[in-house]
Amino acid sequence: MKTAVITGAAKGIGAAIAISFAKAGFRVVINYNKSQERAAALCKILNDTYPTEAVCIQADVSTPQGAKKLISESLSAFGDIDVLVNNAGIAQQKLFTDITDEDWNNMISTNLSSVFYVCREAVPFMVSRKQGSIVNISSIWGETGGSCEVHYSAAKAGIMGLTKALAKELAPSNITVNCVCPGVIRTDMLSSFSEEDLAALAEETPVMRLGTPKDVADAVLFLGTNSGFVTGQTLGVNGGLYV
Ligand code: NAP
Repeated sequence: MKTAVITGAAKGIGAAIAISFAKAGFRVVINYNKSQERAAALCKILNDTYPTEAVCIQADVSTPQGAKKLISESLSAFGDIDVLVNNAGIAQQKLFTDITDEDWNNMISTNLSSVFYVCREAVPFMVSRKQGSIVNISSIWGETGGSCEVHYSAAKAGIMGLTKALAKELAPSNITVNCVCPGVIRTDMLSSFSEEDLAALAEETPVMRLGTPKDVADAVLFLGTNSGFVTGQTLGVNGGLYV
């Protein structure tokens, strides 16, 4: 049985990704930072419902120590990592001139450095086996830039650069590295938006609806299980909001 490690998987898009891989017969590592109860509940559902083995691992992936803990405990649990999904992230809406050093550092470490830290721990194992897939979750705002989200947009654009460069470096080792850019997806991350704002965003989207976590999970499953010829790519899952 293959193994998928998903960061920030207790809820939202990460949880949908965990469910997709479990349904597809993967063993699943559900990483969480603060959402211990939700992670445990999801783990139980996966173990009870799907042909999988799931475990929860607490780790703050915005730190090198947290990334090391996640990968070493994943390998202790299952002895293998076939797919790594770097999904953990935070968002914040602020005028550019109000962004503090702390806001900036927190945004970059959680959304961008985490991808570097976790890949740095997992890649030597994948290279030694000459096999693996990495899928990084960026954002439409990394592609287009989001007003009042300069630090978020910068971090998400960084993920796209990291993905392309790492894909080239790891291709000879039979490891794919791809990136998914969700559009507006209904999760806790949008909790600061009013229902009117969300309705306006849905109306602006050519398919006339907001995305679901499953919309993103389907794309991640495709990239994480592709035959190896799709690498270094950025796949928009945005209902046509940016084409
Ligand atoms: P969400 O429901 O708020 O989930 C975010 C997840 O990230 C949580 O499970 C959280 O874990 C985890 N996380 C945050 N900091 C972490 C850390 N230091 N270490 C480990 N895990 C951490 O948001 P979401 O919408 O599902 O977002 C998932 C990803 O999609 C993010 O990268 C986000 O930027 C991206 N995205 C979302 C949208 C959207 O419209 N929703 C659009 C584009 C891109 P805990 O709760 O356990 O702390």
